[in-house]
Amino acid sequence: MELNKRQTEILEIVKEDGPITGEQIAVRLNLVRATIRPDLAILTMAGYLDARPRVGYFFSGKKPVKSLNDSINAMKVKDFQSRPVVVTEELSVYDAICQMFLEDVGTLFVVDKSSYLTGILSRKDLLRSCLGNNEIDKVPVHIIMTRMPNITYCNKSDTLLKAAGKMIDKQIDSLPVIIDKGTGLEVVGRITKTNITAAFLSLADDHEL
Ligand code: ADP
Repeated sequence: MELNKRQTEILEIVKEDGPITGEQIAVRLNLVRATIRPDLAILTMAGYLDARPRVGYFFSGKKPVKSLNDSINAMKVKDFQSRPVVVTEELSVYDAICQMFLEDVGTLFVVDKSSYLTGILSRKDLLRSCLGNNEIDKVPVHIIMTRMPNITYCNKSDTLLKAAGKMIDKQIDSLPVIIDKGTGLEVVGRITKTNITAAFLSLADDHEL
C-alpha cells in the first residue's frame, strides 16, 4: 500500500516519539485531530501503527512498502553492475575466445594502451570471424570489433531503467559502465541482461506479490 505525504509524516512522528496521542500528533502537524483521523485509521488498519487506549499510537515495526514505480526508479547501475572483462586491441581472436570462456562472459570490452575503451566484442562477432578463417590466432580483435564512437555505454549513476532502455533500443546484450575522463572513457563495469533479470527479481522481495 502506498502512503501519502501526511501519512508518511505521521509514521515518522510516531516512530520517533511514540507512544503519542492523536491530539499530540495533530499539534505537531499544525492540524486538528479530526483532520488526521482518517490517516490514523488507515495507518492502523494497514498495520503500520498500533493504538492502545489511554496510551496512544506506537510504531508496529512494519515498514511502508515503496510503490513499484519508486522502487524501479531507485535502481541504479552502480548497484547491479558486474565486473568488466577487458582485453587489448592486439589480442588475437583465438585468445579472445579463450578469454570469453575462461571469464564466463558474453561480451569483452577492448581497450587501448591508455586503458580507454575502443571496442566491444560479442559472442557472434567472434563466431563470425571464425567462419572460413583458419588463422584466427593471427587476426587481432581490433579488426573485427565494434568500435568507438559506435559504442553505447552508461554511467554508474544512471538508472537501471535507462540502461535497460538502451539495450533494448540498440538490440545489444550488454553495456560498458564508464567514467568519462575527458581524454577517453575508462571502463569500470558491465551491465548485462542478467543484471536486469536480477533487478527484476529483487523487486519481488520488496513487494507483496
Ligand atoms: P551477439 O552478437 O552475440 O548477439 P549482442 O547482441 O550484444 O551479442 O551484439 C550485437 C552486435 O552489437 C555485435 O556486433 C556487437 O559487437 C555489438 N555490440 C554489443 N554491445 C554493444 C554496445 N554496448 N554498443 C555498441 N555495439 C555493441
